[in-house]
Amino acid sequence: MAQRIDGKAMARSLLAETRDAVAQLEARGITPALAVVLVGEDPASEVYVGRKVRECAKAGIRSIEHRLPADTDEAALIALIDTMNADATVHGILIQLPLPAHIDAGRVLDRIAPAKDVDGFHPVNVGRLSTGTGGLVPCTPLGIMKLLDSVIEDYRGLDAVVIGKSNIVGKPVAMLLLEREATVTVTHIETRGLPDIARKADILVAATGAPHLVRGYWVKEGAVVIDVGITRVTDHDGHTQIVGDCATHELEHARAITPVPGGVGPMTIACLLANTVSAASASLESEPA
Ligand code: NAD
Repeated sequence: MAQRIDGKAMARSLLAETRDAVAQLEARGITPALAVVLVGEDPASEVYVGRKVRECAKAGIRSIEHRLPADTDEAALIALIDTMNADATVHGILIQLPLPAHIDAGRVLDRIAPAKDVDGFHPVNVGRLSTGTGGLVPCTPLGIMKLLDSVIEDYRGLDAVVIGKSNIVGKPVAMLLLEREATVTVTHIETRGLPDIARKADILVAATGAPHLVRGYWVKEGAVVIDVGITRVTDHDGHTQIVGDCATHELEHARAITPVPGGVGPMTIACLLANTVSAASASLESEPA
């Protein structure tokens, strides 16, 4: 039977480490702070923001919520970002996506100071990731690597296949795997012969949002599988459940797999908090003596 990689337990221990790091920063006179900006009243975004704020409190991180009306204009949002960029007591800035259609999300995200970009979406951080020169790493890929690290010691030469090429998951996770010297193949909706490519993988990361796309015959014996997908499906009886990208019940010949829910999801928020603490520590180091 494939080992289940327990994302909940790993997120708990990362949270405990983050709490310790916060205490050390407090001793040096800094309280790490994360500003979360929500524009409009998207119900899913409300839930995500609420969860992030609660988790911050558990870690001892100060959270600052900015809830702006849906008709907020781009200039006002950019002015708020400029104020937070200049505020030394704010270490991380997170703009909850999606933004209303009249706002150019790219322009807004580009305005965040790279050192405070705890989502790791700023082009400077993307560039740093692809050149292997530090910077803040997007939370989901960072969490995926921590989950993989719990079962893989040496990535050199392993075949890794990433399904999905989004900027928030597929591409950054491919960069991180490449950095560890795995041989990485990135695939997507237009990839031909995907099951054959997937079957070569020692490490298979599925990040598509296509429920149960990855079937048993796609997975090599002994592979490590990370299931990033989160899709809410409703059955004939009207019951809804969250399902991943993998037909998990067909994957018992894998070495290890992340469950959905309880795998990648909990690590994402834990990594957001860890990134906020990293940003706060870095701000201390960059202060003039
Ligand atoms: P996205 O829609 O931006 O990208 C999906 C990618 O998957 C695309 O590159 C597309 O080409 C590929 N794809 C879609 N269907 C495919 C198919 N049938 N075969 C091969 N490739 C296919 O999505 P995203 O933002 O990267 O998110 C992917 C999934 O991961 C979603 O279910 C999302 O909810 C989930 N997600 C989970 C977390 C978490 O914390 N657990 C974080 C981010 C995203």
